[in-house]
Amino acid sequence: DPTKMKDWQIAEAAEEHMKTVYQLGEELGLDKEELLPYGHYVAKIDYKKVLERLKDRPDGKYIDVTAITPTPLGEGKSTCAVGLMEGLGKRGKNVVGALRQPSGGPTFNIKGSAAGGGLAQVIPLSKFSLGLTGDINAIMNSHNLAMVALTARMQHEANYTDEQLAQRGLKRLNVHPKKVEFKWIIDYCAQSLRNIIIGLGGKMDGFTMQSGFNIAVSSEIMAILAVAKDLKDLRERIGKIVLAYDKQDNPITTEDLEVAGAMTAWMVEAMNPNLMQTIEGQPCLIHAGPFANIAIGQSSVIADLVGLKLGDYLVTESGFGADIGFEKFWNLKCRFSGLKPHCAVVVATIRALKCHGGAPIPRPGRPMPEEYNKENVEWVEKGCANLIHHIETVKKAGINPVVCINAFYTDTKDEIAAVRRLCEQAGARVAVSEHWLKGGEGALEFADAVIEACEEENEFKFLYDLDMPLRERIEKITREVYGGDGVVYTPEAEAKAKAMEQDPELSKLGTCMVKTHLSLSDDPNKKGVPKGWKLLVRDILTYKGAGFVVPVAGAISLMPGTGSDPAYRRIDVDVETGKVKGLF
Ligand code: ADP
Repeated sequence: DPTKMKDWQIAEAAEEHMKTVYQLGEELGLDKEELLPYGHYVAKIDYKKVLERLKDRPDGKYIDVTAITPTPLGEGKSTCAVGLMEGLGKRGKNVVGALRQPSGGPTFNIKGSAAGGGLAQVIPLSKFSLGLTGDINAIMNSHNLAMVALTARMQHEANYTDEQLAQRGLKRLNVHPKKVEFKWIIDYCAQSLRNIIIGLGGKMDGFTMQSGFNIAVSSEIMAILAVAKDLKDLRERIGKIVLAYDKQDNPITTEDLEVAGAMTAWMVEAMNPNLMQTIEGQPCLIHAGPFANIAIGQSSVIADLVGLKLGDYLVTESGFGADIGFEKFWNLKCRFSGLKPHCAVVVATIRALKCHGGAPIPRPGRPMPEEYNKENVEWVEKGCANLIHHIETVKKAGINPVVCINAFYTDTKDEIAAVRRLCEQAGARVAVSEHWLKGGEGALEFADAVIEACEEENEFKFLYDLDMPLRERIEKITREVYGGDGVVYTPEAEAKAKAMEQDPELSKLGTCMVKTHLSLSDDPNKKGVPKGWKLLVRDILTYKGAGFVVPVAGAISLMPGTGSDPAYRRIDVDVETGKVKGLF
């Protein structure tokens, strides 16, 4: 009974009788050498061999799970994605999942590791939550190597004459110390590393300058892992990463520092997606990283390509609400992969609808405000404006939306009936799902709605084409996806935007917005569908290797902070068995 157990206890019980990776591999029809086991319950899959062997097999149906604007607690998007895999499995469908790997930041902070919840989880949980097969470590090593190369070079250029540099086969790069855009990464929410001074000490102790850390999953290397199609593509993209600018404003890349090859060396194994399973034994690929608010935040293109060949249905997820995660899935990930989704699920909970309708915002680690324990159909109806806005967004992409009401055992019949009525009026299929409580058995209505939606025609189309000038694109995303009245820029951001529009290469890149996920607007406290506001763009970063520019809106930071009641307070180890307790 999931109402009496914590998620990690449910996972632990399910792990007693999970399948081995060999069994999973056999069920997927993998050749022996395509399966690269990491212990008994996790494996990597040799994507290259699989894609080559199955190149003529038609792709399965492609389903993305997105959500309404969530509360800080999360609305069960991962739980619904896993529940859908289980529901399709119960219907006898050959389904494969593709989810992102969790980040150590949320795992040890407030939100947990996002393996799903209740009877809809990916297992084994502690492997999933604690680094899996080391892909994020590889990303950190690769990324930080670029910073090692750059900062060492700055020291050498400060200490040596041109002639001494030439003796070492080096040409002065003249990095402008105030124009170093790259930072270090670590996979925690470590606010005290946001702004630091490095290179204190003597002349052999590095170049003194301001620097900082971002969270690992926001790294450009993570974005590259998410969009690269093969190792050749990855190598080329890593070589294009811009680390800094010189005194004439020319970009300095990893290739200029002759470090791109070594950075790629760290990533070879990380290119292979990881194979895990749901509590009910459906295969689920785990690859690339989360955080669609501050990063691309999508599981990898490679995992989707592999999953679509191995399954008849591929369920993936794009983080947070449809304004953030789905917009990037739609206009970036699908553009890079060339894949066309068949259906998008918009997850809604009664609690988030109440919050959009006027109830106080629930905060992680604090007791749920009592308004959430009482029926309030009026708040739910009012909050549906936010849900309908996201339904419209999915429709703009030309795809069929399915609303999944992720049922909590506290929801009432009238509250659910109100959501059904309003969504059907807005032209979306609606299903109530109880996978959290009952696993796949509780997700049959949901699975059937998705199967039906996948059979319908759709006309998938992008919101903008790459010829559209940057500021026009940001305006379009703001008006059509966020519901804002326009965009304002800080002077620095505007100058960058103008320069990018003139640059023949940068102007053709994609646009990866950074914005809070807690509101359709750039202010996390505005709920529902905020009206009469403009998006504030305060900076624009260049992720040339990943293939996009990154407008940063509002006050959000690429290094989140750890709160006063973080999850690590409840995590420990059973020293007899070595089992990890308290992850969620
Ligand atoms: P998201 O992917 O939207 O961030 P998650 O799937 O990670 O959300 O779920 C967030 C939390 O909410 C998890 O701890 C999960 O166990 C819990 N949760 C999700 N769905 C339900 C439900 N139907 N009933 C009770 N708890 C739920």
